[in-house]
Amino acid sequence: MTEIEQIYSRINENSSSFLGYPLAKDFNYKEFAPFLNLCINNVGDPESPSTLAIDTKDVEREVVSFFADILSSSIKDIWGYVTNGGTEGNLYGLYLARESFNNPIVYYSESTHYSVKKNLHLLNLNSIVVRSQPNGEMDYEDLENLITLNRDKPAVFFLNIGTTMTEAIDNIDQVKRIINKYAIKDYYIHCDAAFLGCIAPFVEPKPKFDFSEGIDSISISGHKFIGGPIPCGIVLAKRKHRNRIVNSVSYVGTLDTTITGSRNGLTPLFLWSFIKKNGKKGLISRARKSQELAAYTEERLKNIGINAWRNNDALTVVFDKPSAKLLKKYQLASENNIAHIICIPGLEKVQIDAFIEDYKKEILVSEVFA
Ligand SMILES: *Cc1c(COP(=O)(O)O)cnc(C)c1O
Repeated sequence: MTEIEQIYSRINENSSSFLGYPLAKDFNYKEFAPFLNLCINNVGDPESPSTLAIDTKDVEREVVSFFADILSSSIKDIWGYVTNGGTEGNLYGLYLARESFNNPIVYYSESTHYSVKKNLHLLNLNSIVVRSQPNGEMDYEDLENLITLNRDKPAVFFLNIGTTMTEAIDNIDQVKRIINKYAIKDYYIHCDAAFLGCIAPFVEPKPKFDFSEGIDSISISGHKFIGGPIPCGIVLAKRKHRNRIVNSVSYVGTLDTTITGSRNGLTPLFLWSFIKKNGKKGLISRARKSQELAAYTEERLKNIGINAWRNNDALTVVFDKPSAKLLKKYQLASENNIAHIICIPGLEKVQIDAFIEDYKKEILVSEVFA
């Protein structure tokens, strides 16, 4: 095998075996292979052409428009772009929040993705960590106590629509209740829907998290539930926030509204082709299939005596952490005493069954030696 073949085969093998990460495995973008011989660059604002015309901004705008639609809004009121992933979308939302007020405080739960702390540091934003409930959802009593101490300051609520570890959803009604009770005048709501952004719109009853709930911005990962060879994401925000920070750059003739200058032009193509082929209907059936596999996984784990659970109809099945050997073999993410399997598209029942058999053997051995 050549060196390149070796690298390919290592990643290919590891891709088929992981169970613990929210990265869909069933994509195929072979038809875009010719594009690998092109330099594509969506530099600057997706709505503003550049003097450098080697972009896919037209399809990027279609992608943004599709997401605005499934998140109960339209491009009339919402602006957005295709990012390098959920982290950039969260950084962007927090950036818009910071530019909206003088010295706001960001409230986020302890179950929030690790990258957010760094984002807050980069933006030099003041923040307070709110306790989480055991299921990973924000502890609203703790939030309320913290707000009472700072009710004169602008507040930014960083809400999780699906936490990384347990797929918990923060309750926007509880947050609004607190905003009203303490008459918080200046506030901003950002939703981190990295994994659930493409699923939650189709869950019944639908969790409250989108623009119809008055949120200001939202970040979604593109390479998670939709899947693809290159990490990417979508960030959407109310137009008025984007207009607040708009800057034009004469050198490239476009508006500098995005975090990076040069931007990936391939990833919008992937997302666009997924949307063209699957549409809303495809996303719905994709979500249902994954939910069914998650229900099956939970059931099988319970049947072998493992303490397993899910938040509502989550694709994430949480359970007692198995041995380090199994964690490694199935590439399971773990935290404290729990591990999880995320039932993403492309994962097969036989893979769940294989894991269950291995886990069963482990339990038997530990019982024999107990
Ligand atoms: C994965 C994830 C992120 C980070 O997204 P990337 O696309 O990896 O940058 C942020 N928040 C949550 C809840 C996530 O699950």
